Amino acid sequence: MINNLVTYRDFSDVPFKDYEPSDDTKGALEVLQWAYDSYGDSLVYACSFGAEGMVLIDLISKVRKDAKIVFLDTGLHFQETYDLIDEVKETYPELRIELKKPDLTVDEQAEQYGSALWKRQPDQCCFIRKIKPLEEALSEATAWISGLRRDQSPARSNTDFVNKDERFESIKVCPLIYWTWDDVWSYIRLNSLPYNELHDQDYPSIGCIPCTARVTDSNDLRSGRWAGLDKTECGIHTS
Ligand code: SF4
Repeated sequence: MINNLVTYRDFSDVPFKDYEPSDDTKGALEVLQWAYDSYGDSLVYACSFGAEGMVLIDLISKVRKDAKIVFLDTGLHFQETYDLIDEVKETYPELRIELKKPDLTVDEQAEQYGSALWKRQPDQCCFIRKIKPLEEALSEATAWISGLRRDQSPARSNTDFVNKDERFESIKVCPLIYWTWDDVWSYIRLNSLPYNELHDQDYPSIGCIPCTARVTDSNDLRSGRWAGLDKTECGIHTS
């Protein structure tokens, strides 16, 4: 795949095409080091502050203490998520964490589109509250980091360390592609990292309140997202 990326911005030095991860972080630290060496301050981590996010924040802080992090603050997140962000700010004070808000408040969205748009047109709601703000956040960046893992879902199983991102006309760096869910939690426990306390209440994947439910099927950790709707992704990771 990476061979096809040479003409897409500057992929000429991407070294990970046939990379076999062998270190303790399954290649994540090496990829992060390469990414910050390559893109410097033009690299943004779009963090949802889930479990993978805590791992990535810790790994990133070893490479770039003042890394830029953007959180898509839809205005509909759990208080526990905002509490975690405050804790992360205290733990990693040099990180530059931006809470990026949509153009419309939740009330303004309700005035224009009707109440609870997420029930009727969740794709439209995600577009307004997540995709447009990320577009703006990435408009000044060359590349961005995401916590995608290959075993999260079939749609994510072909993710590479470095990906052409047509949706945002950018380069998407995914250091955790070889990590399992158990790897993530082993790292969190071993390093006593902060994490969202909702993870201890059957919420393995946490997004906006209206679109996040407890998970009862332990074989599908994302089954609590948009439960009951014909939707499994917010659209950020689809073309
Ligand atoms: Fe709207 Fe739900 Fe998407 Fe959040 S996850 S932006 S509430 S549709």
